[in-house]
Amino acid sequence: VTFSDLGLAEWAVNTCKELGMKLPTPVQHHCIPKILSGQDVMGLAQTGSGKTAAFALPILHRLAENPFGVFALVVTPTRELAYQLAEQFRALGSGLGLRVAVIVGGMDMINQAQSLMQRPHVVIATPGRIKVLIEENPDIPAVFSNTKFLVLDEADRVLGVNFEAELRVIFQCLPKNRQTLLFSATMTSNLETLLELSANKAYFYKA
Ligand code: AMP
Repeated sequence: VTFSDLGLAEWAVNTCKELGMKLPTPVQHHCIPKILSGQDVMGLAQTGSGKTAAFALPILHRLAENPFGVFALVVTPTRELAYQLAEQFRALGSGLGLRVAVIVGGMDMINQAQSLMQRPHVVIATPGRIKVLIEENPDIPAVFSNTKFLVLDEADRVLGVNFEAELRVIFQCLPKNRQTLLFSATMTSNLETLLELSANKAYFYKA
């Protein structure tokens, strides 16, 4: 199975080639067609499995068809992961004029609010900082009103009790008809509950 067999656009297939990604990894092989077809996906996959490209490639494929911001919100537990995700999105979307914003703690909040108001295509955020921005700036919630994808990266950690309040605030800004993608290294009871709630439509991938 090649990247073009998965239904990705030619530009995306070429980008993979240029980045030295010869063939899809298993998580990519199984999840990319489901995401392209509009399904919610929960993937159990370790770091190093190619999970980032498994969600970034189909998101960018759909974004290229109808580009607007904020198209995707990716929530991840730590700053370091946020910067790594941004790097991969920028590499995979290098042909698209992609605008990516990283919204994490420790950086200037006024600059972050301004960069969100410019509607980047992809926002990569840690839960605490994006919550504060949404709550403290009345213009920010509307920025996410047409968002097509919510990704919870390292979802086992993001869905831990620590981030419950943050996620409630984030979910309230997002439209109901979005696609939700969860990627996690381990299965937790939080994830099981979520999977049961959406069992009729979420595709569940386990390595
Ligand atoms: P991740 O699991 O998302 O942390 O990705 C681990 C590393 O694998 C990243 O540096 C990617 O650039 C690389 N990678 C992702 N997909 C592929 C692929 N299909 N072939 C070769 N390398 C890949």
